[in-house]
Amino acid sequence: MSAIRPPQFDSAENQESRRAWLARNRRKYQFEADYLPPLTVIKDVPLEESFSPRYLAERVPATLGPLASNTLAVKVRSLWDPLDDLRDYEDFYPTLTAPTVMRGYQTDESFAEQRLSGANPMVIRRARDWPASLAYSLAEVQSAYGPALDLEQKFKDGHLYAADYSALSFVKGGTYLKGKKYLPAPVALFAWRGTGYGQRGEMMPVAIQLAPKPGEKGPLLTPFSPRLQWLYAKTCVQIADANHHEMATHLCHTHFVMEPFAISSARQLAPAHPVAILLRPHFRFMLFNNELARKRLVNQGGIVDNLLAGALSESLEIVKQAYFTNAQTHWRLDASALPQTIWERGLDDTDHLPHYPYRDDGLLLWQAVERYVGAYLAIYYAGAEDIQQDYELQAWARELADPGPEGGHVRGLPSPIHTLEELQAILTTVIYTCGPQHSAVNYTQYPYLGFIPNGPLAAYQPPRTEFDPQQDLTLGELLAFLPPSQQVMDQIQILYTLSCYRYDRLGYFDDPFPDPQARRVLAQFRQDLQGIERKIELRNKNRVVPYPYLRPSLVLNSISI
Ligand code: MN
Repeated sequence: MSAIRPPQFDSAENQESRRAWLARNRRKYQFEADYLPPLTVIKDVPLEESFSPRYLAERVPATLGPLASNTLAVKVRSLWDPLDDLRDYEDFYPTLTAPTVMRGYQTDESFAEQRLSGANPMVIRRARDWPASLAYSLAEVQSAYGPALDLEQKFKDGHLYAADYSALSFVKGGTYLKGKKYLPAPVALFAWRGTGYGQRGEMMPVAIQLAPKPGEKGPLLTPFSPRLQWLYAKTCVQIADANHHEMATHLCHTHFVMEPFAISSARQLAPAHPVAILLRPHFRFMLFNNELARKRLVNQGGIVDNLLAGALSESLEIVKQAYFTNAQTHWRLDASALPQTIWERGLDDTDHLPHYPYRDDGLLLWQAVERYVGAYLAIYYAGAEDIQQDYELQAWARELADPGPEGGHVRGLPSPIHTLEELQAILTTVIYTCGPQHSAVNYTQYPYLGFIPNGPLAAYQPPRTEFDPQQDLTLGELLAFLPPSQQVMDQIQILYTLSCYRYDRLGYFDDPFPDPQARRVLAQFRQDLQGIERKIELRNKNRVVPYPYLRPSLVLNSISI
């Protein structure tokens, strides 16, 4: 292998062998544009992308052992009868560690906190304008909520927030062995209160609008509605959020959007290219893992088909819809930079919203990755000219941005790349998405959605369109809405399987960088990560609900699970 350098600095002979190597690799790694357009995936996964023997030797027993004994114990206790109490859902963990959210999941505090530090902290946004999907005026919501909070003032002060799932309303629902499933598409309104948890303040739910009958406003429920009606409304939000989490936040916005980057890196960057070496650990196993997901998770009759609310085609439509953020804008790499997503949702002001663990911990990691990438690139590029003359890198950008059948369809990626800063921004977003972002949304699956009444993946009765303000729901009505026991077992199994194993940790790689200068930059990155680890541990001591998911020691390098 030639020395680590951009191609234009290599000898003529090495440049020739780099070209020959890339020509061979381009036959092995090809784009497939027909799987779920406009996303692109890999046509055939080369053998060397498979899980390693160590991966399999560790992951299989870490998963199967605990699950097998748990399932057996559940069966022994003959819990396959109809569930007749919410407490029955707590009995599905005779040997597994039950998700901690089980305690307190019914409270408004837990419900609101999950918008900020749960499985899917990507939906809530500040209501700068009154949410268009709410059929009720501010005055109407105020009258339903009562006098406990001045909503007009909250709105004026920018302290109203919305979690809007109305874009999911196209889903009619799929089927499972014993019948039909449904997906509520609610809109939830929240307010930030300056009091609560001492002086820090807290997020509180204000109202939830459920799906309307055609031509009518949907029911509007508040914390002051009858107890089970309010729990039902919150459950509708949790179901919608769980479906959005798996299809949009997790599958689309990490696994699938990163796939073209791994493909083009293999096709356009020679093994001695500094960017190839930088990115390699962050693409480890992803192509294979994604292909596995297509074959065993989002396949006909597979896990998503069985457990999520929509028919398979509808769940895949959610993936597709997520690629068009807000239904209008195409997914963009530049708009996916963490500071950008936080700003876009109006959540960037820490004085205004002092508590948002996903943002607060995420930005620490973001800055560390950015610094690391900058220091690494400075070894190999003196300035803009070196970037512009790096013809492998420019071919990489060109191919990724190419909207045609042979391209990566990535928008928001400059082609050509003009400056070092542009390249730093691109690589920071890629590494952050493969590492911290994926880990934050992957390893929260079992802890939050693994307790089924907190995160049902589907409803099992049509969402109600009417509620009697005088007469609360019965427990039986709520239970019929929730997953039955076989579905409960299946959901626990898959989410445990997807959350229980970590292959590596951010900044620690199987193959050390060959270049001693790069190893020094990596050592500095690890030191930064250690500092962040201590900072987050300290923060977690002061958080009512700890948020460990972005502790660097729990973050992977790549989308390997
Ligand atoms: Mn994953």
